[in-house]
Amino acid sequence: MDLNKLFGEDNPNEKKEWKEWKPRPKLVPILEAEIVKYNEARKQSSPTLFRASEIGGCDKKFLYKFNGLTEEIDAKGYLTMNVGTAWHELLQTYLAEHFVSLEERLYFNDKAGDSSVCADLSGSYDGELTGKIVGQEKNILLEIKTTGVSNFQRLITGKGQLSNKYKFQNTVYLHAKGLDMTIFLMVNRNIALTDEFMELNPDLDVNPTFHEIIYRKDDAMVEKLRQKITDRKLHMKLGTSPKREKVTECSYCSFEAQCKAEHEQNKILAREAKKSETENKKEQEKLAKAEAKKNKNK
Ligand code: SF4
Repeated sequence: MDLNKLFGEDNPNEKKEWKEWKPRPKLVPILEAEIVKYNEARKQSSPTLFRASEIGGCDKKFLYKFNGLTEEIDAKGYLTMNVGTAWHELLQTYLAEHFVSLEERLYFNDKAGDSSVCADLSGSYDGELTGKIVGQEKNILLEIKTTGVSNFQRLITGKGQLSNKYKFQNTVYLHAKGLDMTIFLMVNRNIALTDEFMELNPDLDVNPTFHEIIYRKDDAMVEKLRQKITDRKLHMKLGTSPKREKVTECSYCSFEAQCKAEHEQNKILAREAKKSETENKKEQEKLAKAEAKKNKNK
């Protein structure tokens, strides 16, 4: 590495003694730029219109991307994704002998014969387990999700639940494979629980790293999925966009500034349209009154 780049203007000059020099390295911005560069170079475009992992996300965000805007992901965002991938690979390696399949990539048209739900979607579930249970041969899907410690703590205490985004994603897999149950293996990225949480919950006997949640296929979710796809396609055809709704995704959305500005602009336009409608109505009432008066005086 070029040390001039690493220390920039902090370079010691000849008059300074090496031992007195208090360097302020700039390795972090170099590292962050490399993380972004590395991940950008490996970005793959989706083979289908929709991806199962994003179908439950914000439709407005999807449409921004569909209309050509580029999503900017910073080093922290990419690193979070890389860590998630590494966790998946590790856990799948440990569990490999228990699966009938791992990471099967699905390019639907839907095996259940209902193309309005899964057409134009692709995605890959994390694993499929099989076995005999309560007298039946059953196949059960596995989804691994890494999460931050706060969300993990909410899940193990029952104060939080699976996000809709995960439910939509998993509904795609269950529906396409004709299955009805998934085990979500939630992984605490921080591995341990926070000290504050342990102090507040001294008697809680929980695994600080892993938590299992059963998810069953829900027909109402299938219908919502169908509706979501229909709505997105309609917006794509008409060149329109849904109303902004504040969702968790907003906090890390790279279109937030634009989305907010558009929302404010739409509010102003709606106010102006309403004002002009009221003024028109008043004007028409005035004209009608004048007309009535004229007729009366005839
Ligand atoms: S800011 Fe929120 S509502 Fe707007 S596009 Fe992003 S995620 Fe969607």
